[in-house]
Parts: sequence; structure tokens; C-alpha cells
Amino acid sequence: MKKFILAVITFILITVTSSIAAGQKRYKEFPVTVYIESSTHKPVIKQAFSSWTNMTRVAKFKYTNSPEEANIIVKFAEQPSVNKGESYVAGTNMNLPSNDGYIHNSIITIKSKKQKKNIKMYDSQIYIVALHEIGHALGLQHSNNPADVMYYVSGSQRMLTIGDLNAFKTLYADKTN
Ligand SMILES: [Zn+2]
Repeated sequence: MKKFILAVITFILITVTSSIAAGQKRYKEFPVTVYIESSTHKPVIKQAFSSWTNMTRVAKFKYTNSPEEANIIVKFAEQPSVNKGESYVAGTNMNLPSNDGYIHNSIITIKSKKQKKNIKMYDSQIYIVALHEIGHALGLQHSNNPADVMYYVSGSQRMLTIGDLNAFKTLYADKTN
């Protein structure tokens, strides 16, 4: 249930920021500069960015150590789980408002919490949540297909699908043709 609520919050944020200009916003050019907060999850977040690069051959990212230089900032936040002992992962993305029809800054928050010390947070879950939120940062909206990473609930997804890639190609048509 909580996962659902967070997904809806993410959706609302995207809807609000997208409604400022007509059409769907996106980054104008690649590479997009990324800052990832220090965390044990940093490698898996980088893996998610690499997947977007490898699968689209268009989305390119470069990393910086200073948040001020970054277009996309990835943060981590702890989030208590609903049931005792149950692990929980979700994320949000917020694209900051701009006036020129393009996205310039995004803040991704990956929420994770180990309810008990002996419960491991799976990097495979964080990977999928990161893929999804990076998709939002790039301007993608939710998919209606539960198989897609951009579906509003993360669960059974393992990798970016043709549906996700087509959504990207539509948004970045001038770069993918
Ligand atoms: Zn979402």
C-alpha cells in the first residue's frame, strides 16, 4: 500500500512539473551530469544509469563530485516499513521547474530501510527503483504495462523493456533517428 502511495506521489510531482510547458519535458542534450550521494548503494545506482546508456545508446551521463555542478542529484533516505521485519524500497523523482521547455535539474530520492539489522536490502530492488526514477528524470511518464520499468508499481520488472525504450525514443526522437 505504501509503495502505491509513493508511486502516486511521484506521479503527481511529474504531472505538476510537466504541466508548466505544453508537451512532455526532457533534457535537451546529453551527457547529463550526475551526482550520487555517498552510499553503499552507489554502485547499483551507477549500474542503473549505465543500463539506460547501454539500452538507448543515446542517454549519456557523466559523474561529478559536486552537487552544484549536477543536473541529476541522487539522494538516499530511510523510510520505515509498514510491517515489522518487512523490507521496503521505493523512490521519488522531482524535476525542478524551468521556463524553456527542457528539464535542467532532477532530484531522485531512493528510499530504503532495513527494519531489522539482519534483513538485507536487495540491490536488485534498488536497481529497478533507480531505473524507474531515472526514467522520470529523463522525462518519461508512467506506462500502463506492468512489465515495463515505467509502470507505476515496481515488482516483477528485471530490465528496461521495448515499451520503456519506445517511450524514450518518442521523447528523444531527434536524437534516436
Ligand atoms: Zn513513477
